[in-house]
Amino acid sequence: MRPYILAETNWKALKDQQVDLAVLPWGATEAHNYHLPYATDVIEADAIAAASAKIAWDNGTKVMVLPTIPFGVNTGQADIKLDINLNPSTQLAILDDIVAVLSRQGIKKLLVLNSHGGNDFKPMLRELGLRYPDMFLVSCFWIQAADRKQFFEAPGDHADEMETSLLLYLRPDLVLPLEEAGEGKERKSKIKGIREGWAWSERQWSMVTEDTGVGNPKAATEEKGKAFLEAAAHNIANLYTEIAQVTIHDRYGG
Ligand SMILES: [Zn+2]
Repeated sequence: MRPYILAETNWKALKDQQVDLAVLPWGATEAHNYHLPYATDVIEADAIAAASAKIAWDNGTKVMVLPTIPFGVNTGQADIKLDINLNPSTQLAILDDIVAVLSRQGIKKLLVLNSHGGNDFKPMLRELGLRYPDMFLVSCFWIQAADRKQFFEAPGDHADEMETSLLLYLRPDLVLPLEEAGEGKERKSKIKGIREGWAWSERQWSMVTEDTGVGNPKAATEEKGKAFLEAAAHNIANLYTEIAQVTIHDRYGG
């Protein structure tokens, strides 16, 4: 039993245990090219949350990882079979209930560990921050916790070289041979501002990609996945420790 994983711990161990920071991993259930499982984002979230919590725990940080929420915002994939959508307003309602529990029980710090590009917790944490001024609410998209260019050759953001490498490391039994994967070719917007990234419109997934992937997975390896996961977990562990140590009402001046 890992004492920093809520789903594994028990009342006996937990009732007198100090918890300085709760971590809520949040994934999605969706198609990932032809070769990766629908739970890819959940598997990644579980693994990165646990690996980083282990490092932080071993350094004395009282962190607790809550169970990963398995459904994310998939509003742009409405026509892709069994991509399960939670609307942002539903996510806000779930977060509100979880923050209420933490606040009531004196656990005043929450990190939402995002594992899916369609999830955007910033506006929600702004709103909840007003509702719970005693809480310190943080979000982190683990994909940005290490510099992907140092690990991977091909660009991409969905079922790409990075995600395929991670799954080859974490759950090779669930990855089809790479010859069976599509190339993850992305059709770019006809609108210049959107292509350049200074304007935005939600990508309509089935118009953007044939195989549901964005990014060519063919150069993926288990070793790359392991190296990236370790780098990201190291940085996220430091984030946990810093959040746990900071005084909520005196957290600027760094
Ligand atoms: Zn993914």
